Amino acid sequence: GDVLAVSVRVAPLGSRLVLVLVEDLTEARRVEAVRRDFVANVSHELKTPVGALSLLSEAVQDASDDPEAVRRFAGRMQIESTRLTSLVQEIIELSRVQDDTRLVDAERVPVDELVAEAMDRCRHQAAAKQITMAAGGIAGLQLHGNRGQLAAALGNLVENAVNYSPARTRVAIAARKVPGPAGKPDTVEISVTDQGVGISEKDRERIFERFYRVDPARSRATGGTGLGLSIVKHVAASHGGTVSVWSVEGQGSTFTLRLPAGKPDPDRADPVTTPT
Ligand code: ADP
Repeated sequence: GDVLAVSVRVAPLGSRLVLVLVEDLTEARRVEAVRRDFVANVSHELKTPVGALSLLSEAVQDASDDPEAVRRFAGRMQIESTRLTSLVQEIIELSRVQDDTRLVDAERVPVDELVAEAMDRCRHQAAAKQITMAAGGIAGLQLHGNRGQLAAALGNLVENAVNYSPARTRVAIAARKVPGPAGKPDTVEISVTDQGVGISEKDRERIFERFYRVDPARSRATGGTGLGLSIVKHVAASHGGTVSVWSVEGQGSTFTLRLPAGKPDPDRADPVTTPT
């Protein structure tokens, strides 16, 4: 276990009374270690595409009299710079959600709009692999939260479902409202189910950690950064919600977000159905 680190401060309050303050430093040390790890990981992750870009630009210069080679190197430079861009975006997104655990700019967010956005984000990848995306039960449901963060969370789950599934499979998004216990607010459960590679029990414990990937080579090939699920976890936490995973290796996975429900929209008495 952890060795308890304490700081003790003694303040005299009078001739006989003293005030003794005992402060647990274990948590502070742990936070510091996590921060150091994160910085080390970020530098490592950034070095890969930056290093590749610098080698490729040298290669382009050396191959200046071979237009075909120049084209090929330029194509790879484009791939590496796209990767660098998404890495930087996710790092910014993650530091935004983890620095501010309070929920800011909360509003009513219709679930069907979030789902449509998330599906749009992966439409190309899904089409390329002939993966069908379908949504059910989402009409008329509302969340209460930060729209941008909620969109990032659901988008990451749907993107993963498409990325870690073989061709001609199905990704299903479902939602339902779960009434809160007496006096407590209702919750909305949104689940994303795929028929993909699945996740072993050992890995299920770790996939929400920053930069953790089951198969780094595969994740990189699909443009993964290893940050997606830690963003999802932080968004869920800052909303007072949770994210959980259920999976059978080789058969598929279901990720479930549980989030606070928003008040029904009085202007939308007749729920609009989203095309699936
Ligand atoms: P990445 O950018 O690598 O996708 P994530 O944090 O989103 O990073 O996910 C971490 C790891 O969890 C992934 O590298 C992958 O191995 C595993 N994973 C996430 N979603 C799924 C899924 N739907 N099916 C199988 N494996 C998954």
